[in-house]
Amino acid sequence: MHPILAIGSVAFDSIKTPFGEAAHVVGGAATYFSVAASFFTDVRVVAVVGEDFTDEQMQVFAGRRIDLAGLQRVPGHTFRWRGEYSFDLNNRDTIYTYLNVFEEFRPVVPAAHRETPFVFLGNIHPVLQAEVLDQVSSPRLVAADSMNYWIERTPDELRDVLRRVDVLIINDSEARELSGEANLVKASRVIRDMGPKLLVIKRGEYGVLMTRDDGFFAAPAMPLEEVFDPTGAGDTFAGGFVGYLASHRGMSDQVLTQAVIYGSTMASFAVEDFGLDRLLRLTPEEVRARFSQFKRLTHFDDV
Ligand code: AMP
Repeated sequence: MHPILAIGSVAFDSIKTPFGEAAHVVGGAATYFSVAASFFTDVRVVAVVGEDFTDEQMQVFAGRRIDLAGLQRVPGHTFRWRGEYSFDLNNRDTIYTYLNVFEEFRPVVPAAHRETPFVFLGNIHPVLQAEVLDQVSSPRLVAADSMNYWIERTPDELRDVLRRVDVLIINDSEARELSGEANLVKASRVIRDMGPKLLVIKRGEYGVLMTRDDGFFAAPAMPLEEVFDPTGAGDTFAGGFVGYLASHRGMSDQVLTQAVIYGSTMASFAVEDFGLDRLLRLTPEEVRARFSQFKRLTHFDDV
């Protein structure tokens, strides 16, 4: 079992879906990722929050396998983001993104964490992602995520960091935007030429497509009757996916495909309640049971 070093946003989110609203709740890419991945292995977070992030809010990380030595608390406001979803939950408008303390942030990987073998570069400025990579010595696997916000504003910096990434985990619209290709199979090839040998495309309620030079693996999303808030589903998927890889020896096809299903399993819980709420009350037994449900959902015989 290997630990994971993760950089990304820790945020205050405001969310509006057709089913309700949540204001000023703890969110952020690194938060969803680390809570999900901590079901599988130890996670070391590198991020920043402002003085407005209270000890009570810090409790989301408490009692989990999450090390906060690399989480800085500095004067100023925590990152803030507001998203609003359309009726079918497939489209989301970003109403605002305030980087706040992330504007001046310089990530510092604690000396004891510089040899961490798995690195997750969560959604944040690609220069910050690169600064984390500069501070770790020859990791076994570098996985990354990004977002339209960075694809549009910092395309060159993102290209630079992608050259150093093994696995990119992004959603379908981001894959299209990054590659300039509408067709996802073509888009994957273009993106794999940018650096990542393995690409995992998240397609919301339609599931996930994993692509490599030598083939594909696709998994559906769990059909759920209660879907309240998709926020963080992507980062939660990444937490389950990378968490599972880090908790296993080797990276055989079997381990990779199981990692996709564990990622999908974790994401299926994240959407069942607002913000982090469902993940915070999730148990390992529930994870295991839903993983088995996925097996029944996708299994068929060929005779
Ligand atoms: P997801 O729904 O998986 O795309 O992730 C949503 C999370 O990403 C929210 O908790 C936000 O706080 C965070 N987020 C939104 N926009 C950005 C951004 N531009 N950079 C970093 N994190 C962001």
